[in-house]
Amino acid sequence: MIKVLISVILIIILYFIYKKNNMESNISTQKINILSWEESYKKAKEYLKTFSLKEKISLMYGNTINPTRGCVGQIFPIKTFFQLKFPGIKFDDGPQGVRFQKGKTISWPTTINLSSTFNKKLIYEIGKAQGYEFYKKGINVALTPNINILRIPNSGRIFESFGENPFLTGNLASNLIKGIQENGVIACAKHYIGNEQETYRNASNSIIDERTLWEIYLEPFYRVINDSNVGCIMCSYNAVNGIYLFKNKILLNDILKEKLNFKGFIISDWFAVYDNSPDSINAGLDINMPGCKNKIPFIGGSSYWDDIPKYINEGKISENRINDTAERIIATMFKMNQLNYFPQGNFSEDLVTEDKIKLNRKAAAESNILLKNDDNILPIKLDKNKKIKLVVLGINAFKGYFYGSEPNFIHFISPHIKIDGHLTNGYGSASTTYKYVITPIDGIQERIKNENVELISYAKLDNNDNENIENSVNLSKDGDIILIFVHSISGESYLKTDKSYGDRKDLELLHNGGKLIEEVSKVNKNIIVIINSPGPINLYWKDLVKGIIFGGLAGQESGNGITDILFGDENPSGHLPFVMGKIEDYPTYIKELQNDMIMKEKRFEGSSDMEEYIYKEGLFIGQYWFDKNNITPYYPFGFGLSYTKFELNNLNLTMNEKGLEAKFNVKNIGNLYGGCVVLLYIHFPDYIEDFPMRVLRGFEKVFLNAQEEVECSIFVDNHSLSYYDINQKKFVKPNQGNYIIYIGQSAALNDLVLEKSISV
Ligand code: BGC
Repeated sequence: MIKVLISVILIIILYFIYKKNNMESNISTQKINILSWEESYKKAKEYLKTFSLKEKISLMYGNTINPTRGCVGQIFPIKTFFQLKFPGIKFDDGPQGVRFQKGKTISWPTTINLSSTFNKKLIYEIGKAQGYEFYKKGINVALTPNINILRIPNSGRIFESFGENPFLTGNLASNLIKGIQENGVIACAKHYIGNEQETYRNASNSIIDERTLWEIYLEPFYRVINDSNVGCIMCSYNAVNGIYLFKNKILLNDILKEKLNFKGFIISDWFAVYDNSPDSINAGLDINMPGCKNKIPFIGGSSYWDDIPKYINEGKISENRINDTAERIIATMFKMNQLNYFPQGNFSEDLVTEDKIKLNRKAAAESNILLKNDDNILPIKLDKNKKIKLVVLGINAFKGYFYGSEPNFIHFISPHIKIDGHLTNGYGSASTTYKYVITPIDGIQERIKNENVELISYAKLDNNDNENIENSVNLSKDGDIILIFVHSISGESYLKTDKSYGDRKDLELLHNGGKLIEEVSKVNKNIIVIINSPGPINLYWKDLVKGIIFGGLAGQESGNGITDILFGDENPSGHLPFVMGKIEDYPTYIKELQNDMIMKEKRFEGSSDMEEYIYKEGLFIGQYWFDKNNITPYYPFGFGLSYTKFELNNLNLTMNEKGLEAKFNVKNIGNLYGGCVVLLYIHFPDYIEDFPMRVLRGFEKVFLNAQEEVECSIFVDNHSLSYYDINQKKFVKPNQGNYIIYIGQSAALNDLVLEKSISV
C-alpha cells in the first residue's frame, strides 16, 4: 500500500516537473537583449553537450509544412519524458507579413514599396512591427527579406525585393532585419544567389564572373551579415557557374561562411535539395527544407536524413560538420533569446491593431512615387463653393475576384489566377491572407463624403478581358479631373495569369490599360494615371497625361495611401528604386514566357542540363547601364517629385580612417512640409577600369517644414570606398587619384547638383 502511495506521489511530482518545463511564461516586452556571437556559441556548446548524434542530425531537416496552422515549415521539438529538450523551429514567409494567418496579421506594402520610401527609420519600424507579429504567432524564423537584385525589368519576384541597387538593397534590408531580430525572431535573407528570374528557376545556371558577383550580387549579403547580423540565409533553386546552390561549396562554405564570416545557419529553399548525396552537407548547407518526403500533405524533396548516419560511418561526412551545423542553429537561437522562452503562437489572436494599421497606411502613402505633375494638377483642389466632377476609371480602382489576398488553396490545384481588381501584392509565397483591402474607390469615397465633389466611377471588362473604353471615354468628356487606375502583376512561377508565368510577358499594362489612357486623353487632358505594378511599365502614353503616380503594390491600406497623396493630406516623397525605361533599353529581359509543360519536359528540376543565363552586363545593371550607354530613360533611378521643392548647397567633404563624411545643407524652399531624399554617388578614380560612371554609396531622407533648412550628413564607410580587386581577391581602396562625390535628388546627372573631388 505504502509503495503504491509513494509511486502515485512520485508520478504527480514528475508530472508537475514536466508541466513546468513545457509551460509558457509571460513576457511583456519584445525588445530582447541580442547576445554577441561569441556568447551565443559558448552557450550553444554547453547546451548541445547532452545531445546524441541522432538528435543533432534531427536539427538538419524539416519535418512538416502546415499552412492551415500558420507555418510553411517546421523542425520538430525533441522531447524526453522529463523535459522539452529542444522546442523545435517554425519557419514562415515573408516578406509581405506573416503568411497563412487568415487575416489575423497585417498585409504590409511589398518590399519594392518599402524601398521606394528610401526611409531607413520607417523600414526599421516596419521590421519591428512585423517581427512582433512573427513572434506572437510563434514563428522562430521569418523568411524575409528577399535581397535579390532587379536585374531583369519583367522578372516575376522583383516586388519582393528592394530594386536594382545593391547598396540600397543592403542598407534597407539591414534596417528591416534589425527591427525583426530585436523581437527575438531570426530573419532569413534570401535567395542566395543569382536567382534573378522565375523562368527555369529550378534548372537554370547563372553565369556570373567573380567581380560582378562581389560588387553586385554578394553586396547585399555582405551588408546584412555585417550591418545587422542576419541569423539565417536561404540558398536558391538555381545553379551558379555550373553548380546548384544546395551543393555549391564555393558559394556556401568558402564565400558565405569563410570569407564573409557568416555565423548563422543556411537553409535550402523549399524542395531545392535535388539529390540525396552528402554533397549538400559537405558544401555547407545546414538545413534541408521543408524536408518532408513521404509526409502528408506534401510529398517531395530529398530525404537524406536517413542516409546521414550511413555517410558518417562511411567517412563521407565528418561528425565535425554535424556539430558545426548544430552549433550554428543553437547559437543563432540563443543569440535571439529563443531558448529561454519563445511563444507557441496563438493562431486566433488578431494582431491587426489600430497602431499598426496607422503605420501601414503611412508606409503605403509614403511609397507612392509622383512621377509627373504638370500644371500642378495634384493635389486635387477641393472647394466648398465650387463643385468638381471627379471621374474614376479602371478596374484597378475596385474590388474584384483577385484584388488582394494570397490566392487560395484552389490555386494550388489550378494555378491560374484571373486579375480583375485592385492590386496590392504579387502572387506566390510572398503574399498574405488579407483581413480587408481598402481599394482606391473606398479611400476616395470616404475622403470626399463631406466635400463638394460629384463622383463618377466606372470600370468593366469586356469578353476579351479588356477595359470597356467607349463608356469610359463618354463619362470623361466633361469631368474636371480624370483618375485612371491601371495595373500589371507578376509573382512566383507555381502560379500564373494570362500574361505572366511568374515573370511578366512584357512591361505593358493589363486589360489594354494603355489604350484606355490614349482614348480618354482624346476627350480630356486633365488625366492622372495611377499605376500599381511590381516594377517598370512601358510609359509610351506619358505625354498624353498631366499626372502619373507609381504606386507599386502597397498592401491592404493601399487605397487609403493613394487617397492621402491625391488630396494632399500627405506630401509625396517616394522615389524610384529602379530606372524606368523601355524594355529593350535594359541590358537583358525575359523574351518569351515558358509554359509549365515546356519547362517541365525540357528541364526537370535539378536537371544537369540547365538553361544558361550569362550575366554579361557585369557591373552595369539598371541605371549604371543607362549611364554607360547614354540612354535617357522615362525616369532615372531615384526620381520622385514632391508638392514642395528642395534646394541643396554647401557641400563639404572630410576623410578619416573610418571613411568619408559628406556634409551639406538641405532647404525646403516651398510652402509645405515634406520629405527630401538625397542620394550620394561616387565616381571612382579612372584607373579602375570598366567601373560604372557613378555608383550609389549613400542616401538620406530628411523631413522639413516650409522654408526650413538643416545640415545633413552622409557617412560612407571604407567598404563603400573600395572596389573588388580581382588580383588580390578582395575589396581594396584606390591608392591614387580622386573620388568625385555627387549629391542630388535622382541619379540623372543634371539632378546631381552638388559635386566635389577629394583625394583618395
Ligand atoms: C520560395 C521562398 C519561400 C519558400 C517557402 C519558395 O517557393 O522561393 O521564397 O520562402 O517557398 O514558402
